[in-house]
Amino acid sequence: MNESESSFILSNAIIIDGIGDKPIVNHHLLVNNGLIEKLITNDELTGFKGIQQINCSGKFIIPGLIDSHIHFFQSGGLFTRPDGLDLRHIKSYEEEFEDIKKSIPDLFKRYIGCGVTGVIDCGGPFWNFNVKEQAEAVKIAPHVAVAGPLVSTVSREKLDIGDPPIIQATSEEDARAQVRNCVKYQPIFIKLWFIFNQERFEEDSLIMKAAIDEAITLNLRVAVHATELETARRAVQYGAHILVHSVFQEKVDAEFVQLLLDNEVIYIPTLMVRLGYFDTFRCKSFLPPFEQKYGDRWVIESLGKLSSIDKNDIPEPYRQLTEKSEESYPDDARDIMYHNLRVVYEAGVSIATGTDAGNVGTLHGVSIHREMQMMEEAGMKPIDIIKASTHIGSLILGKKDTGKLTLGNQADLVVLNSNPLESISNTTDILIVYKGGIGYKPEELVKTNVFS
Ligand SMILES: [Zn+2]
Repeated sequence: MNESESSFILSNAIIIDGIGDKPIVNHHLLVNNGLIEKLITNDELTGFKGIQQINCSGKFIIPGLIDSHIHFFQSGGLFTRPDGLDLRHIKSYEEEFEDIKKSIPDLFKRYIGCGVTGVIDCGGPFWNFNVKEQAEAVKIAPHVAVAGPLVSTVSREKLDIGDPPIIQATSEEDARAQVRNCVKYQPIFIKLWFIFNQERFEEDSLIMKAAIDEAITLNLRVAVHATELETARRAVQYGAHILVHSVFQEKVDAEFVQLLLDNEVIYIPTLMVRLGYFDTFRCKSFLPPFEQKYGDRWVIESLGKLSSIDKNDIPEPYRQLTEKSEESYPDDARDIMYHNLRVVYEAGVSIATGTDAGNVGTLHGVSIHREMQMMEEAGMKPIDIIKASTHIGSLILGKKDTGKLTLGNQADLVVLNSNPLESISNTTDILIVYKGGIGYKPEELVKTNVFS
């Protein structure tokens, strides 16, 4: 098969369009100049003799996946969040960030190799805009959309090495100024980090409200990190368009669900990131084979360094976790996240898939597959998980010609060896990934360790 041919037909596959319609059978996908040009019927096929046919009999085609919640400024390794897990005496944050910068070209390939043809960076330093430019300058990279620094009522000094990913707003006017400062970089949306503080809840809410109001005035969407029902409720009441992270402190109520529906809010459950942290500290060999194979080696190695660190050097609450096994650590929050996802899903709220990749134990590229598996565990049907991971993601990405296999769209697609509608875990069984009509085999893209 010649993957660089500009016109070709993927024939005989079962086509899953990304918008949740019934799988298409007995049709063949014509790709021309990077676009999906036509769905050819069996009868029409003989008229396309001159065009290369790639027989995909027994295969399944889905749109390229979109991870709607990642952070390029975090590696997924052990030393990437010194604000919560301060191990800077072992590796400085400056050194960690230099490694992250160096790994970006490799990361782009890794995303494509994992079937991810679009990513949305939900907040980081202004350097994020440079990453977007880097992605646009090379062929093998996902579509990248980025937010600028997270606007928050709290600060994170340990992450500030000159270009902080989180900027504290101390007043309503300050919040508005932060938003205006971001606008000139053309972020995909403004990201707010709404951290609950009982004593300051009303004051903090006003600051968040001002930021949302300013963004809306400037024609920008707003995504809010909100994990409590009350912060999430306030964010939506103030006009937020996207909720990042599940509500996991308590069960959502009917009024909140209606609020999401009325405001057409997109809910990104972000289920696996907590598990990533927990499993790292439970010192379990927790990465599934797909993540071991396609995850970034230097990041996996950094997670493995935990076992050689003196327990007294590990800050709480992480130290406690090192003494627990999965069995002795029931995760009530996960049960609530699953419950809440099921409730909003069954009510018809738009759901997008996002991993929070870059956080400790949540690796770039590979993680979307485990996130989707958790969405299935929570009760979503595979066809709807695919929609959340493609079409709905494209709405956040702001690229209408991606995320679904309809005519005229970009030929970003993943050919799978096994049926993702039987089990969503089959999305890891990737034969080939096309980005803009050019095919890549996963093992060829991600065979190298960026630092070896
Ligand atoms: Zn995040």
